[in-house]
Amino acid sequence: MLVREITYLTQTNKIQYANIYASIKILIKLKQNIQNNHFLKVCFMINNFNIANKKVIIYGFGITGKWLSSNIKCDYFVDTDIKKCGNTFNNISVKRPDFLKQIKIDEYIIIITTVDIFDVIPLVNRYSANWISLSDVITIDSYDLGINITDESDEFLKYSIDTVLQCQTASFLKDSFYLRSVDLVITEKCTLKCKDCANLMQFYENPVNYEFEDILSGIKLLSAKTNFIHEVRVIGGEPFLNKQIYKIIYELSLIDNINKIIVYTNGMIPPKEEELNNINRNKLLFSITDYAELGRNLDKTIEILNNTNFAYRVHPPEHWTDSGKILERNNDVDFAEELFAKCCGKNLYTLIGNKLYRCPFAANADQLNALPPNTNNFVSVDDSIENIRSFAYGINYIEACMYCPGRSFDSPVIIPAIQAKKSIFYKKFIPVTLTHN
Ligand code: SF4
Ligand code: SF4
Repeated sequence: MLVREITYLTQTNKIQYANIYASIKILIKLKQNIQNNHFLKVCFMINNFNIANKKVIIYGFGITGKWLSSNIKCDYFVDTDIKKCGNTFNNISVKRPDFLKQIKIDEYIIIITTVDIFDVIPLVNRYSANWISLSDVITIDSYDLGINITDESDEFLKYSIDTVLQCQTASFLKDSFYLRSVDLVITEKCTLKCKDCANLMQFYENPVNYEFEDILSGIKLLSAKTNFIHEVRVIGGEPFLNKQIYKIIYELSLIDNINKIIVYTNGMIPPKEEELNNINRNKLLFSITDYAELGRNLDKTIEILNNTNFAYRVHPPEHWTDSGKILERNNDVDFAEELFAKCCGKNLYTLIGNKLYRCPFAANADQLNALPPNTNNFVSVDDSIENIRSFAYGINYIEACMYCPGRSFDSPVIIPAIQAKKSIFYKKFIPVTLTHN
């Protein structure tokens, strides 16, 4: 743990040495809080420390945080997403981060269970809190699920915990370059036209499928420049509208340093059973949004995935905010930086061809020519590793933020999937070529 925290220290200069030693003490308390034998078995590190009287807060009200709360004794959840605050799970309430200033912080330890741990560390440090990462407590090879009272299957729960562990571990490794997820856009077409689609599908007048060769060459180049990519999310629009999808996911499954491939679909175009059969079942999963009466063929899609034994998750359209709009330029850089800092979409790295963007808004707004050209909205995967890494981790905003309504955790939730009758008008930037007489 020391090595990891010192790595973070050198990367950001934001941790004080005092916190390093304080964090070691945090492990001490966990020994008292273990409730079940399975979990006890894997918390091998804890036995190396003495006892101290600390109460536990779990940072992150996601699947992993909920799971942890049912396997150790804890007092509160804290989450950046204020829409989750006020909820309870397992009789434990979810608090906003500023709750940390209302308590005697020295009496608590915080276990961070989120994937983007570097977004959370500055927040908890602001309150001088003692914290550890979940990856300090358990390792990917040596934990048992123990109690699962989440709504998720054991299979999906394990996938979620492994994702947190792998990404947290990689975050602290010096000189590693990993990407938690990359949205690989394979089509602009969709079977629905949701007027608030955060991927801006509602603006495409003549949507097209992207070419197999361009898609593959972009992701191969990017993966060759990273230590690993935890998940590649195959998206559109509706990815099954691109008939090359089977070839694409087959080729993705052969790339060693891509751990998982997740196809995001609305379930309206059932996959072809015979095409799925030669694809690695350990690598491919499906995330299916259930649009209720708007959708069709969901049952058929599920039947095929059951027949072919692929893992999938069906969920309603969740947490929609008013982020599917293209605004007039806001020239205020401070405002853009603030929007970026608060944005929950800024780490949704999105790949179109050989252009890597920070978010689907920037990617699609650029494709739509809704942004002026030659900006800092993307990095080419042909570029150096240093430049790609710096784009992925070292910027404070992108030009696209100046045209974006933002995707903050405190944005109000809106009604999802209201359909537009036709493509929505927006202002285009037409590239001008100057000629000299
Ligand atoms: S939100 Fe609606 S329009 Fe956008 S990709 Fe999903 S189904 Fe298609
Ligand atoms: S453009 Fe900026 S504010 Fe908008 S989603 Fe992307 S990163 Fe977030």
